[in-house]
Amino acid sequence: MMQSTYTINDVKRVIDAVGDVAANTTVSILVTDSRRIINPAASLFFALNNRRDGHQFIVDAYAAGIRNFVVSHQPDTIMPDANFLVVDNVLAALQALSAHHRNQFNIPVIGITGSNGKTIVKEWLYQLMCPENNIVRNPKSYNSQIGVPISVWQMNDTHTLGIFEAGISVPDEMEKLETIVQPTIGILTHIGTAHDEGFEGREQKIDEKLKLFKNCKQIIYNYDQLKDHAEELKSHECFTWSRKFNLADLYVFSETTISGKYYLRAVYNQKEIECLIPFRDGASVENAIVCWATMLAMGYSAADADDRIERLTAVSMRLELKTGINDCSVIDDSYNSDIQSLEIALNFLDQQNQHHKKTLILSDIYQSGLEEEALYKQVAQMIKDKQVERFIGVGAALQANKAYFDLPEIHFYDDTAALIKDLGKLHLHQETILIKGSRSFEFEKVSRALVQKAHETVMEINLNTLLSNLNYYKARLNPGVKLMAMVKAFSYGSGSFEVANILQYNKVDYLAVAYTDEGIELRESGISLPIMVLNPEPLAYDKLIYNKLEPVIYSFNLLDEFVKFAQENDIAEYPVHIKIDSGMHRVGFEDFEVEALCDLLAVNNYMRVQSVYSHLAASDAEQHDLFTLKQIGIFEKACAQIEDTLGYYVIKHVSNTSGIVRWPNAQYDMVRLGIGLYGVDAAVSPDDTSLRPIATLKTTVSQVKKVLASETIGYNRNGSLKTDGQIATVRIGYADGYRRAFGNGVGKMLVNGVLVPTVGNVSMDMCMLDVSAAEVKEGDEVIVFNDQLRIEELAQQIGTIPYEILTNVSERVKRVYFYE
Ligand SMILES: *Cc1c(COP(=O)(O)O)cnc(C)c1O
Repeated sequence: MMQSTYTINDVKRVIDAVGDVAANTTVSILVTDSRRIINPAASLFFALNNRRDGHQFIVDAYAAGIRNFVVSHQPDTIMPDANFLVVDNVLAALQALSAHHRNQFNIPVIGITGSNGKTIVKEWLYQLMCPENNIVRNPKSYNSQIGVPISVWQMNDTHTLGIFEAGISVPDEMEKLETIVQPTIGILTHIGTAHDEGFEGREQKIDEKLKLFKNCKQIIYNYDQLKDHAEELKSHECFTWSRKFNLADLYVFSETTISGKYYLRAVYNQKEIECLIPFRDGASVENAIVCWATMLAMGYSAADADDRIERLTAVSMRLELKTGINDCSVIDDSYNSDIQSLEIALNFLDQQNQHHKKTLILSDIYQSGLEEEALYKQVAQMIKDKQVERFIGVGAALQANKAYFDLPEIHFYDDTAALIKDLGKLHLHQETILIKGSRSFEFEKVSRALVQKAHETVMEINLNTLLSNLNYYKARLNPGVKLMAMVKAFSYGSGSFEVANILQYNKVDYLAVAYTDEGIELRESGISLPIMVLNPEPLAYDKLIYNKLEPVIYSFNLLDEFVKFAQENDIAEYPVHIKIDSGMHRVGFEDFEVEALCDLLAVNNYMRVQSVYSHLAASDAEQHDLFTLKQIGIFEKACAQIEDTLGYYVIKHVSNTSGIVRWPNAQYDMVRLGIGLYGVDAAVSPDDTSLRPIATLKTTVSQVKKVLASETIGYNRNGSLKTDGQIATVRIGYADGYRRAFGNGVGKMLVNGVLVPTVGNVSMDMCMLDVSAAEVKEGDEVIVFNDQLRIEELAQQIGTIPYEILTNVSERVKRVYFYE
């Protein structure tokens, strides 16, 4: 058995389902998202009750060819030859099926849990142990109640070791994951404060996590962290490590830095052993020690462990979307290649609309557990289904199976060097290119050749966080309320089509931009959602209409101009939006103008009023709540008058980000989500970690200098150190959006984890930091803002608001989008 295959009757028995089985087919693929279907005939669809009810997507999945479903109720639509297995709880059925599958194998399985470092430890153990093992592990960080069963389902006869991570966010989840993973060896990584909100306290969180290890033969953990849990762990064989206590099995007593590497000495079995780690940051060192302890616990020699750990490579689970040469977009996933992560990457490629042409550069895939022919047949089918137009394969195995690749354009190369030599001849131009390769192919070289050079200041946008922020607000909407995402001003500095593609894929209802040109840019990047334009310029009405953008009409003048244009161009019933000024006094019809407006609308069939809205001046501020109520009153009256005149229903909306949470009764038919999407909301406490900033602005150190207290630093000799010390010059200045007001100690940045102040005036392209208190060398990364050093804090330092900090980051700063 190479791939897990079960007959539908077996599945029915395992998950204890009812319902008629029309045809006893076999299934081998578990599907939970109807947008991600590869081989429908072999797929079993689980209609999970996730954010949205999976039963809504059964018709789509059926249309895509799936015939086997696990559901909590039979759908109303008649679907011939489909099997519906009806259960009480679809998620529990998925978990039960996976647990049953796990039971078929008797191999060592490592289970990893903890608050931080699970994925890194899992990937590093994979690197360390793959020479003698065929390892099955979670793709990326698929460690949830859904991710774990999907991961474990990959186990097959060829595997000799399983490594699975398990993550939980609320009590009671771990027991379920334990029955699926059934680890024989348990590893607890760092316990931090992350994800504390679902638990009563740290102790409850630890107790909960330890449930994964219930049946483990051996548990590996940091003694310093679990001193107080000795009682619970007593019945297990334990392997402990410590930096404080010499009674641990692995006692790390000395830590120093040697030429950029981290050198550890420890006592193990009464002997002194050593280990060199190719990373220096605290988290990596801790994760490497966990791996070190695990290797020793599993019987590797100290020499082997040292030798392999020294060669660990950085783990990146990220897909990075970057601006490529020749007007291309590049999705960089050059770290690893397996069939699940290829599927994830292809799916991300599929979400991109900015270019018609989609290209995949793929290396041979190792250790899939499938026979080569079967593997590449499956790969070729996936690629075809995702409508990749141009395929570039690198490696002997892909070459040998080239016959399966039936695509408009295919190229094959022996190795990466041959591809790079030929890149010019491929004329890559205006296309989205996915680069996906196994580590040994060194596809980072391909990526370097195809990505636009950036000076080393970049703004990274976390698309997962963008999505989780979106869902944070969706979860707070009353039933049926639509969502308009504000993507004006380059999505508050975060990007145009890159952000819009994700929003479109995740089905927001509307987008809004400030100007016609911003809307046109989105249309040219393939965005088909309705787009409202807040400030339509009458001179650009032709472009606006040609691009199917919907203008806001906020004055009699705009209305007249629009009518004139419509008359001249034979336009009728064009969708527009009416803006009411309920007290903000910026733009919009005031309440005394609404009657005159209605008179004009009554005799006007050039346009169709899509929505009526108003904007709140202080939705986040309690001291203005009475004023907000007054605004709401004025708005409601205007809406009633307009709807009465028109005789048809219009969408009504008033809430911006802070209004969504603070004024649930004013959500009406739609809300306009702006800065909250980007992770900032004055109405949400910064301790609520379910809303997080999506942007990280970072730069690098260009030079480090020793400076005496008697010397001065920068323009106008404004800066100096209190005592002799050192400064670091970094590659960001006011031309990048780091305002001059941050100079002379007002602003602070994070250098190797230490918060350090600016010193002297900020220059155009650089500024200086007082790093007397930090360890730093040229080339080190410096954080200007991220989820620790927050935009809100920067705004406060210079007396502005987060909106301005975000939108100030200049276009010169390259944006990199990642998805993990
Ligand atoms: C920018 C804008 C919003 C979004 O405001 P946030 O505070 O960022 O949520 C909503 N409505 C209008 C009219 C806007 O101009």
